[in-house]
Amino acid sequence: MKIVHTIDDLRAQLRGQLRTAFVPTMGNLHEGHMSLMRLAAKHGDPVVASVFVNRLQFGPNEDFDRYPRTLEADTKKLEAEGVYVLFAPDEREMYPVPQEFRVAPPGDLGDILEGHFRPGFFVGVSTVVLKLFHCVSPQVAVFGKKDYQQLMVIRRMAQQFSLPTEIIPAETIRAEDGLALSSRNVYLSEDERREAPNLYRLLQETQSIIREVNPAKPEAIKALETEQQMKLSERGWKPDYFSIRLRSTLQNASADDLTKGEALVVLAAARLGGTRLIDNLEI
Ligand code: AMP
Repeated sequence: MKIVHTIDDLRAQLRGQLRTAFVPTMGNLHEGHMSLMRLAAKHGDPVVASVFVNRLQFGPNEDFDRYPRTLEADTKKLEAEGVYVLFAPDEREMYPVPQEFRVAPPGDLGDILEGHFRPGFFVGVSTVVLKLFHCVSPQVAVFGKKDYQQLMVIRRMAQQFSLPTEIIPAETIRAEDGLALSSRNVYLSEDERREAPNLYRLLQETQSIIREVNPAKPEAIKALETEQQMKLSERGWKPDYFSIRLRSTLQNASADDLTKGEALVVLAAARLGGTRLIDNLEI
């Protein structure tokens, strides 16, 4: 595996490649990330991974400084997986001058859910992904459904800018007890780690009861969301949202959508102690 730290070296390594498959990450790699590498290998060659903790997507009171940085271990994992190039730029390489040009997603997609609770998050994500795409020139790029809204933002960005990169979604990889793998899981105490899978259990419970909701009662979906959110609070979580949305647009699902059998997704974000976890399930 070639490890490159500059955009010039990256471009030199990839010159002439027409089927590059790209997986951007922030490092501290786990099995979820590795499944993306494997999926990328099915869709292109060579596979290029990036590890870059992108300051632009962190709010002032978020965990940028303490985000786990484990480049040596990440390198070994990517090497073992047969990744061809690891792009690991430092901040001066990605942002040699302040990044004044930014990509602003439309509010109906970028300012809801995660975007509401993390203002500027999707501007930071879109900006770095567009920049990374220009460095790598991938034909395909893989993004996890774990970050469902992020996947949709990137997809719509790729469409609206006519990017020559196909966006491929990857399923969420979970621990045996159901907890979605995440770099942030390392923040959890032993007790919190035991509690954490209950977020997924509530999503599953929602999946099993959503079709019993009476579409004749317009308030029924809202009531179910509130009920599930209260269960999290009672267990000591501090929920940001627990929300049933249309898969196609991430707008709220109406009773009419239920009747029509529209494809739905339930998305949740909640803090457990000092750790903010997100998860979702297509229902
Ligand atoms: P991150 O390093 O957290 O920015 O994530 C990099 C990529 O890995 C994103 O496309 C995430 O959606 C994806 N990802 C993170 N966790 C998982 C998981 N448990 N299963 C599948 N993909 C994941």
